Amino acid sequence: MDNATIAQAMNDIALLLEIKGENPFKIRSYSNAGQTIEKMSTPIAVLVRENRLRDIEGIGDALEKKITELVTTGELEYLNELRGQYPKTILDLLKVDGLGPKSVKALYKALGIGSLDDLRQACEAGEVREVQGFSAKREQKILAALAFLEKQGGKFRLNTAWVTAAALCAYLVDNSPATRVEVAGSLRRFKETVKDIDIIAAADNTDEVMKAFLGWPEVARVVSSGPTKSAVVLKNGIPVDVRVVAPNQFPYALLHFTGSKEHNVVLRRRAAEQNLKLNEYGLFREDDTSLQCDNETEIYQALGLPFLPPELREGLYETDLCPPIQLVTQNDLLGMAHCHSTWSDGKNSIAEMADATRELGYHYLVITDHSQSSVYVNGLTPERVLEQHAEIDALNESADTGFRVLKGIESDILADGSLDYDSDMLRQFAFVIASVHSNFDMTEAEATKRIIRAIENPFTSAVGHLTGRLLLTRAGYTVNVDKVVDAAVANGVAFEINANPRRLDMDWRHLRRAAEKGARFVIGPDAHRVAGLRNMRYGIGIARKGALAPEHVLNCLGVEEFLQWRKGR
Ligand SMILES: [Zn+2]
Ligand SMILES: [Zn+2]
Repeated sequence: MDNATIAQAMNDIALLLEIKGENPFKIRSYSNAGQTIEKMSTPIAVLVRENRLRDIEGIGDALEKKITELVTTGELEYLNELRGQYPKTILDLLKVDGLGPKSVKALYKALGIGSLDDLRQACEAGEVREVQGFSAKREQKILAALAFLEKQGGKFRLNTAWVTAAALCAYLVDNSPATRVEVAGSLRRFKETVKDIDIIAAADNTDEVMKAFLGWPEVARVVSSGPTKSAVVLKNGIPVDVRVVAPNQFPYALLHFTGSKEHNVVLRRRAAEQNLKLNEYGLFREDDTSLQCDNETEIYQALGLPFLPPELREGLYETDLCPPIQLVTQNDLLGMAHCHSTWSDGKNSIAEMADATRELGYHYLVITDHSQSSVYVNGLTPERVLEQHAEIDALNESADTGFRVLKGIESDILADGSLDYDSDMLRQFAFVIASVHSNFDMTEAEATKRIIRAIENPFTSAVGHLTGRLLLTRAGYTVNVDKVVDAAVANGVAFEINANPRRLDMDWRHLRRAAEKGARFVIGPDAHRVAGLRNMRYGIGIARKGALAPEHVLNCLGVEEFLQWRKGR
């Protein structure tokens, strides 16, 4: 049994206890255990075997017994009993934006609501507004959140899909005669969420590759199988299609199944103009003889086109990106922006974040902990800001590597659009990311006005996660992007591309247009621990998808030039 499964069981217990209304200390001990186990690299099963569970902070007698039972028997009587007290689907209700365990408890007690369907029906019947703590307005919000969930149904976040796809590709390379294995589809195009994973493999012996794929231990269910194409659903719920083609067809299949449909239409039209025919099997002359290309670049060349990176193949930029721009790459990034530390709600110290950032090849780190209004995440009071700055000064003085830690802040944008400190305090930061974290209930006009007011603050360097969306969970507020971009360009304020795969906000669809108007961007991992620094790859993918070049991205600058951005205001 892996740590994720054990952590999930602990979290489920905590949630069920909360719905039941149990004592908060008991609830917290389970949720803390869940969080700790989720982050551990040592398998819990090993600790159980070696009788070392008690070494983990926060694991006492009761938890030790339960975890041991779960690991050794695969079941946990206590959890089963708790689950038995409620409908099986009750925890699904927590996926609805705005519903926490307390609300779920109230709805279950008053109306017996135990599933998303129950909830929808009760809202539609106007029953939810009658429950204590609810109102007609809240009922409407729940209906909107349910509609959002339904629309997102069956989609997966980019990071989940990438990690899964990479594991499958590695497995096929190691366990089958495939000579090439690549991710295709919307995942290769770096869409922010995907419905499934498409893999293209090349092999002379296609049967052996298919056999290996269907035997991958992560496969839960085979939907269809054949010698060249099989479809399955994995244990984590993601559908996967694998196609195996002859090696000489590989680049054409990869191009075709990477899509998008719109891009393929453009390419086929281009081929037709040259009296050629392009499909997933090859590129053919009128007499059906084929032009052999070894890779996608050669196919584009044969069509008289520059190679278009997969991220841009959406049917949007095919004609106006000539000559082709050099998209930003990982190697262009010198600065790590938007990171939290133990000073607010991060899990690692500034020194740990700095070491990890340096090891990843970056030259500087902008620490941006939360500001004072974000009390729930231990936001910094002015006194604590000064203490933090002293720590950063000491770190920089002791560093002999030239690596720099910069004093930044993620300042809340308050309801009226002002920032969270006075000017004297704000002046002390090298970089101020201004973000909305509260009062999400705004009309588009209100949200736009609030953010523009923050942009006009002379101390703002960048706007954090523009819409506050959480992919697959929360739509975020709407803003008038054109107006906000105009204000940012006029005031020399950048936009963050928040690289946390739950956000990927600002949306890539706005990036190119904003860049053409003169906007600049900062890619921020919004890392709350060392592992979160790796989010950068998703932000870079999104920047590329928005057709951004290194000159559009502030953290491609060296540290001195980066600091000028703030001083230039
Ligand atoms: Zn934030
Ligand atoms: Zn943040």
